[in-house]
Amino acid sequence: ISIYANPIKLEKTKNLGILLVIEDMTQIRKLENIRTDFVSNVSHELKTPLTSIRGFVDTLKNGAINDETVAKRFLDIIDIETERLYYLIQDILLLSEIESKQNEKIIQYNKIPDIIDEVTEILKPRWHNKPLEVNCQCDDGVPDFLCNKDRIKQLLINLVDNAIKYTEKGQISIRCFDANHYLVIEVEDTGIGIDQEHIPRLFERFYRVDRGRSRKQGGTGLGLSIVKHIVELYEGNIKVESEVGKGTKFIVKLPYKNIEK
Ligand code: ADP
Repeated sequence: ISIYANPIKLEKTKNLGILLVIEDMTQIRKLENIRTDFVSNVSHELKTPLTSIRGFVDTLKNGAINDETVAKRFLDIIDIETERLYYLIQDILLLSEIESKQNEKIIQYNKIPDIIDEVTEILKPRWHNKPLEVNCQCDDGVPDFLCNKDRIKQLLINLVDNAIKYTEKGQISIRCFDANHYLVIEVEDTGIGIDQEHIPRLFERFYRVDRGRSRKQGGTGLGLSIVKHIVELYEGNIKVESEVGKGTKFIVKLPYKNIEK
């Protein structure tokens, strides 16, 4: 709590009373802490691939370059780590762009089923070597949604990409329908599922259920945090239903209304 006091004077001498401002700093401190945590998490996340890149470059310079097989293996690792850095920086920039509501002026009526088709087309190469069936069911009567198309596309890419990453075989279903003035988008998979204990923290930045698995899949740990921010931008909500070994369903509900930002 911060307290600020100032005398209220009628004339130079006459004291009328005291103006007391008591400010609850809890929220401000909380935000400060989130920001500091984020910066230290980002530094750590950036440092890990960089340290690995530097290590392999040094080893190559110290002679490993002369062994073609070893050199190729090291270069492949450097390649993967560089890509990880690239995606990480891209996600960090995207998150801050959404937070600062940049580009929110580009809003227009969009056909959600068309965006879903675009997303499945983009992500096709991600599942083409897996025994996965991806199907889309969109109600005919889904009204056009007033939004920045890139945002909804990003939300879908992150959810469907996760469904692909964490599902070895089976089905991924993407549904969209209209329910009581809400646009509902569901992404359901038959993948590894998520234990209930992790669900409350799932949308936190850099939170992963299994760090090793996420890294192997090329995850940045920011995907769901970006999804949550986009959902909040449209004043909607997101829910997760999941069972370990059976699969996961993300349900996004966005209110239909004119958003003038
Ligand atoms: P990541 O880049 O690690 O995938 P996300 O923020 O997208 O980061 O997701 C956070 C964590 O939530 C993931 O590391 C993963 O453990 C879990 N997760 C997300 N989507 C799914 C899913 N469809 N099935 C199982 N686990 C999931």
